[in-house]
Amino acid sequence: GLADRLQNTIQKIRGKGKVTEADVKEMMREVRLALLEADVNFKVVKDFVKKVSERSIGQEVMKSLTPGQQVIKVVQEELTELMGGEQSKIAVAKRPPTVIMMVGLQGAGKTTTTGKLANLLRKKHNRNPMLVAADIYRPAAIKQLETLGKQLNMPVFSLGDKISPVEIAKQAIQKAKDDHHDYVLIDTAGRLHIDEALMDELKQVKEIANPDEIFLVVDAMTGQDAVNVAESFNDLLGLTGVVLTKLDGDTRGGAALSVKAVTNTPIKFVGLGEKMDAIEPFHPERMASRILGMGDVLTLIEKAQASVDEDKAKELEQKMRSMSFTFEDFLEQLTQVRNMGPLDEILNMLPGANKMKGLKNVQVDEKQISHVEAIIQSMTKQEKINPDIINASRKKRIAKGSGRSVQEVNRLLKQFEDMKKMMKQMTSMSKGKKKGFKFP
Ligand code: GDP
Ligand code: MG
Repeated sequence: GLADRLQNTIQKIRGKGKVTEADVKEMMREVRLALLEADVNFKVVKDFVKKVSERSIGQEVMKSLTPGQQVIKVVQEELTELMGGEQSKIAVAKRPPTVIMMVGLQGAGKTTTTGKLANLLRKKHNRNPMLVAADIYRPAAIKQLETLGKQLNMPVFSLGDKISPVEIAKQAIQKAKDDHHDYVLIDTAGRLHIDEALMDELKQVKEIANPDEIFLVVDAMTGQDAVNVAESFNDLLGLTGVVLTKLDGDTRGGAALSVKAVTNTPIKFVGLGEKMDAIEPFHPERMASRILGMGDVLTLIEKAQASVDEDKAKELEQKMRSMSFTFEDFLEQLTQVRNMGPLDEILNMLPGANKMKGLKNVQVDEKQISHVEAIIQSMTKQEKINPDIINASRKKRIAKGSGRSVQEVNRLLKQFEDMKKMMKQMTSMSKGKKKGFKFP
């Protein structure tokens, strides 16, 4: 996702007090690529990046957020903004029935969504809808709607496939009036591609039915194509809303962004499955997160961070198990940890550390860490790998080289010994004697 793309850049500006223009530029390059990859219209991307850049540059960094997180927060807010607010309201005609016309390409999910919407109207709004089978072209289309009607226990109006959709619509609305249905949902035909004959017919149906809503059903999986389709339908029919289906698939949802931006028609609902209750109001914020590639923008960055740590922790665990953990590893560990933030988190990162009683209360401060680093750096490679060889004269040399006292060298050697002992303990414990004990 977008968040992954930003990780590298985020690493670089971690800990900075201010987001600079160069930082933002670099991040925006990633944002641009990611959005294009997510099938967002290039013009939309361009405007978007400009807006986010302006907002991000020179910002003071909030205490609770790293600069990277902050830029991502801006990105998410702007994405949400771009997709508009939540607009899942369905029109109500002054004089019933309210007529909803469903349009879209073949296979987009019109028939399914017609059933879902009717179900929603009855369940959530206590309405009494009627379905209309006006797709006379697709084999079994009428049957499909009738089956849904049976399943939902809802009336389906049909005149077979010999009567024109215009005539069907006309008679259906009369029937709905007679039977006191407050909503009429017209399921129309689609084609594989937009063609003139289809559009002409839909225009005629529109004229006769005078719909309060024209919902375009688009398949989220079709990406940029969905945007072109939306544009054409909007030009020819004038849409009042879009339903984005098949979001339960692994699409990024970039189409959602462009559909709204290009047609200025709100996305009202999303389809999340084939079942009749798999429909939800469109939540721009959730979609923004999805486009960013994560459930929750900020926590995911932390998670990504944690997964990096996890790899390192695993490697360390391996070494501990094999008893080959050396001062070199220790030093490397320290260096990594220093780049990562608060020092008391070091201990929590050490595998099993939170289960070791003695370590809980150890206070670590910055200075001490650099002293430890200096001492280890003054050791020879041999000494780092095999501390047992460090005798009195070597200790003196190390102390001198690091600018620390011999006592401090002794203390570190002792700590390292203790640590290895504890590791041994943990290793034997995890060899099955104590069931359930595991390195975290
Ligand atoms: P139409 O040609 O536009 O009427 O499309 P249909 O309603 O017949 O749907 C085409 C296929 O897409 C069917 O197999 C539906 O079950 C499926 N479908 C529709 N909406 C969704 C959705 O939100 N998620 C998933 N996974 N499948 C959907
Ligand atoms: Mg259909």
